[in-house]
Amino acid sequence: MSAGQGGDDASLIRPALAGLVPYEPGKPVEEVQRELGLERVVKLASNEGPYGPFPAAQEAIARAALELNRYPDGGAWRLRSALAELHGVRFEQVTVCAGADAVVGYVCQALVDPGDEVVTAWPSFPSYVLDPLKLGGVVVRVPLEHERIDLEALLAAITPRTKLVFVAAPNNPTGTTNLRTELDAYFERVPSHVLTVLDQAYFEYVEDPEYPDAIAEYFETGRRVLVLRTFSKVFGLAGLRVGYGVGPEDVITAIGKVRRAFDVTSVGQEAALASLGRTDELERRRAANREAMRRLEDVLREHRLEPAGPAVANFLFVRVGDAVAVNDALLRRGVIVRPSGSFGAPDALRITAGTPDEIAMLGEALADMSAVATR
Ligand code: PMP
Repeated sequence: MSAGQGGDDASLIRPALAGLVPYEPGKPVEEVQRELGLERVVKLASNEGPYGPFPAAQEAIARAALELNRYPDGGAWRLRSALAELHGVRFEQVTVCAGADAVVGYVCQALVDPGDEVVTAWPSFPSYVLDPLKLGGVVVRVPLEHERIDLEALLAAITPRTKLVFVAAPNNPTGTTNLRTELDAYFERVPSHVLTVLDQAYFEYVEDPEYPDAIAEYFETGRRVLVLRTFSKVFGLAGLRVGYGVGPEDVITAIGKVRRAFDVTSVGQEAALASLGRTDELERRRAANREAMRRLEDVLREHRLEPAGPAVANFLFVRVGDAVAVNDALLRRGVIVRPSGSFGAPDALRITAGTPDEIAMLGEALADMSAVATR
């Protein structure tokens, strides 16, 4: 039988894809409602900001929608310029892509040949593993220490074949971060043949004064680093897919060669532009998140669940033992959280700090589960 008729001609598919399990996104609310016949379902699964786009971005989206017959500006010229100005870097040092996730994929396409090594902490963001594997790269996974990335161990895992090191600060799924002293020491010692991708997807949430702005403190001081940021979290634009990287010009130029021509939608570009400089709104959301994290922590502790800490982003990570069972029990009560198996932690759940109502519903679900367990 020929492959075109669904035959068994496996040779069409690249061997690098054989063992690869695609990233499994959090379940959509509608699907859970339909499957379980539930009226109210809340999603605390994907680390999105719980509120919509900023008011200024909502207006920009409505305006830009009227011109959707046109292709977007493929080079994202205005957004890229605005980001360069915001960070005090050159235009040629900024790439804007369809989410920080796309930057991860593109930097791998630009750097990783079959057999090249990529070092990442683990558990961490799955794309750091999946994207190099798609290219035949060799991924070295370095265990966390006390639920935090062990930068010394990452350094020890680097060999002459290492091209990339991924460091998420804060780390997903654990929510913990490395701070300035540790990161300074890492950059002092990392060999010069390596590009470090420092992923600051949750940058805007972190309030610890010891947490560095990696663009200012590492990139601009000459470290070989690509810093990632996104509009998906505090800016409430996850559905539009806009993220960016700031890094060395040779890396940004190479990303420009592999990225698709119209990667970021026109609406996404306009919404991101309109979100910049809205410091009051940003501060309101940061304050709401601070409060939400406190509530979420309290709710978990009330049920004898101890989250990893200190957690500095907009989610908590908690080892629960049988995560599949706890996840199912929560789902049946209309609460979607994220089992962390695909992040390398099969015994844990990752729970996003949602609105006060959403967190209250999680509390009710947990209370009901303990009541059932003790009945
Ligand atoms: N990096 C980390 C550490 C993340 O947690 C996420 C989102 N879950 C991303 C990157 C991807 O963000 P984006 O929506 O910009 O692709």
